[in-house]
Amino acid sequence: MLLKRLGAHPGGAGQLSREASSSLTPAPRLRMTSNAFLRQCQHQQRAAYHSDPMTGEPMGPRDLDASLLVVEENKDRKAPPPSSTLVFGHSFSDHMLTAAWNSKTGWAPPAIHAYRPLTLDPSSVIFHYAPSLFEGMKAYKDVQGRLRLFRPDMNMKRLNNSAHRIALPPVNGKERMLHGVPSEPGYSLYIRPTLIGTQAALGVHPTNDALLFCIMSPVGPYFKGGFKPVALEADPTRVRAWPGGTGHYKLGGNYAPTLRPQMEAASHGYQQNLWLFGEDHKLTEVGTMNLFVVLQNEGGNGYEIVTPPLNGTILPGVTRDSILTLARDHYREIEGLPSAQELTVSEREITMGEVQQAGKDGRLLEIFGAGTAAVVSPVDRIGFQGQDIDIPVGPEGIGKVAKAMLNRMNDIQLGRIEHPWSVCIEDLL
Ligand SMILES: *Cc1c(COP(=O)(O)O)cnc(C)c1O
Repeated sequence: MLLKRLGAHPGGAGQLSREASSSLTPAPRLRMTSNAFLRQCQHQQRAAYHSDPMTGEPMGPRDLDASLLVVEENKDRKAPPPSSTLVFGHSFSDHMLTAAWNSKTGWAPPAIHAYRPLTLDPSSVIFHYAPSLFEGMKAYKDVQGRLRLFRPDMNMKRLNNSAHRIALPPVNGKERMLHGVPSEPGYSLYIRPTLIGTQAALGVHPTNDALLFCIMSPVGPYFKGGFKPVALEADPTRVRAWPGGTGHYKLGGNYAPTLRPQMEAASHGYQQNLWLFGEDHKLTEVGTMNLFVVLQNEGGNGYEIVTPPLNGTILPGVTRDSILTLARDHYREIEGLPSAQELTVSEREITMGEVQQAGKDGRLLEIFGAGTAAVVSPVDRIGFQGQDIDIPVGPEGIGKVAKAMLNRMNDIQLGRIEHPWSVCIEDLL
């Protein structure tokens, strides 16, 4: 297990802005005595030539081994910017983690060091063929000041699924990382593990070199000063993911192709894309979030929460899975949800035709996105084939189900409700 080594600034975020931290580079000051430095080099060498301690026989590629962690403290730490000025993903913690992999030797010892640019050969495969994947998760500070992760096992599993799909190495072991979590309510530390192919050679081949790195960004509440429902453009000529493709993996290459459609949606007055698939215009995802629709049943008796099934075109979101589980489990009454007898929870296909019809019948109660950054993001309008479908969001700008889910998730993430999904970092070390 890794980190939580270099502690945060007391009570603060412990981060540098991107500008400030890049001014530290390229040579972060290493205030190590030469003896300590030598010891660390020897330690690293021992680790790189992985051999049986008894026989000296080489033992094959090494797993990622947190016990070999090398820490180079960034002594040049700046005061963190005030939490109130944080913009999502623009400030970073002043340390990062890196671990290099090679197909023959396996994982080199992981290192925590100053946040700094990477140096890569321009022929590195990452720049040409995009072997790249990432994860997104958050660390929270609970009421007692303890640090908590939310379902980190799911991110680890998804990271390895993504790696397998694009022939990057598995990140084996229980590596986890963290430090510097803002403590104000609603604030957290966004954690971004990334794995890229780095072999310096042109040619479309599985890479022989890879780099795992993890950066962290203190972030504020997604909705400052009230909920802001988003309007979606549903353009059937744009496709995010398709059967047999890679839409269900968190690969870097999935995202650049979504930028132009998003700009176009914005130029038509919509904030995000509603991604459709197929002749019958099945709803899949909203922007980079999973999608939930709340319907009143025909005839008016009972409600249904619908999300598209994991059929290869949907990213298996941790938030999606959590909302489904909470809704299905809700004999432990969640305030604001219809009673368990009245509520059906469905993973099923849902088409624009069905959404339009429900809208006309007054049975379309809510649509919201679900993902780590915002937890839920209410939708108030969908533009489709030249017409707008309006979705009620009420005076608060958020529907009852979305709000109930948001509150329950926050309670679990912050440890206000004890739940096995919320893991105290101390228990991982
Ligand atoms: C990351 C992501 C999600 C949400 O996943 P979470 O694990 O809930 O954060 C949904 N859709 C896409 C396309 C994503 O990249």
